[in-house]
Amino acid sequence: GANTDRKELKRLGIAMRKWEPCEVTVINYKKSGEEFWVNFSVTPVANEKGWFTHWISVEKDVTASKLAEMKLLELNESLQKHAKELSVSNAELEQFAYIASHDLQEPLRMVTSFLTQLEKKYGTVIDEKGKRYIAFAVDGAKRMRQIILDLLEFSRVGRMEDKLETVDLNEIMNEIKILFRKEIKDKHATVLIAPLPKITAYKSPLRQVFQNMVSNALKYAATDVPCQVEINVQESKTHWQFAVSDNGIGIDREYFEKIFIIFQRLHNKDQYSGTGMGLAVSKKIVENMGGKIWVASEEGKGSTFYFTILKIST
Ligand code: ADP
Repeated sequence: GANTDRKELKRLGIAMRKWEPCEVTVINYKKSGEEFWVNFSVTPVANEKGWFTHWISVEKDVTASKLAEMKLLELNESLQKHAKELSVSNAELEQFAYIASHDLQEPLRMVTSFLTQLEKKYGTVIDEKGKRYIAFAVDGAKRMRQIILDLLEFSRVGRMEDKLETVDLNEIMNEIKILFRKEIKDKHATVLIAPLPKITAYKSPLRQVFQNMVSNALKYAATDVPCQVEINVQESKTHWQFAVSDNGIGIDREYFEKIFIIFQRLHNKDQYSGTGMGLAVSKKIVENMGGKIWVASEEGKGSTFYFTILKIST
C-alpha cells in the first residue's frame, strides 16, 4: 500500500533470506482500503540436525498501541517545545524585573532627594498641611524603595555566582540568633535549635532562607503566649528537610499557596511591616537548590514551614 514502509518490508525480506529472526511494524491495508498497523514477527525453526526448515510467524494488529505511541510522541514533542518557550519567557521576565528595579532606583532617589530639599529650604514658608503632604510623599517613596529593593533581590536569586562550600548550619543559626537578638528579647522568645548538619551548599542563599523563616516566626508571633521557635531537621536519601515552627498567629488553609507569591501578604503594612517578598524569595532559592517549600498551619495555633534541599555529594 501507499503508506507501507518499504524499507521495513525489505529488512524483513533480507532477514528471512538469511534465516534470521525479525520483527517489523508496518501499515497494511484492509480490503476496504482502510489502513491498520500490523506487527509481523518471524522466527526460524530448526530440525534436530540444526537445519532451519520452516518459520513461526505471528501477525498482530497493533493499530491501537501504535496510535497511542504516536500520540505520546507528538505530545512529548509539543511539551518540549512549550518547556523551551517557557524557559525563554521566564528568562526574559527575569531580565525585565532586574532592569526595571535597577533603573527605577535612580529616579526614585531624585524624588526623595528633592522632597528633602523642599522641606529643608522652604520649611519656613510651607504650612503644617504642606509639611504633612511632604511627609506622606517621603513615606511613599521609602516604601517604593523597599519594594524595588525586594524585587531586585528576587530577580537576583540564582543569578549570583555563589560557590559551593561546606556550611555548618549550627553556625548559621547562631548568626541568625544574634541578628535577631533584639526581636527575641522584645518578644521574650525562645529559639530551640536541634543539632544541625554540616552540608555542602550555597551559603548565602541558604542563610537567607533560614533568616526569612525565623524573621517571620518572630514577626507573626501571638500576643497572648510567649513566642517559641523551633528548628528541626530530617535526613532522607536524597534531601535534607528542615522545619521552622512557631506558636504564632497561624495561617488559614486558604492562603497556604498564596503566601509564596511575590508581594502577597495577609496583613497591611500598619499591622505587620513587610512587602510580602520573603517567602517568594525563599521559594525561588529552595527550588534552585532542588527542593520544595510548603507550610502546615492552624490559625491561632502556629505554623511550621518545611523546606527541602537536594543533597550535593562531593
Ligand atoms: P512579609 O512578611 O513581608 O509579608 P513573606 O513573604 O515573608 O512577606 O510572608 C507572606 C505572608 O505570609 C505574610 O504577610 C504573613 O501573612 C504570612 N506568614 C509568613 N510567615 C508566617 C508565620 N510564621 N506565621 C503566620 N503568618 C505568616
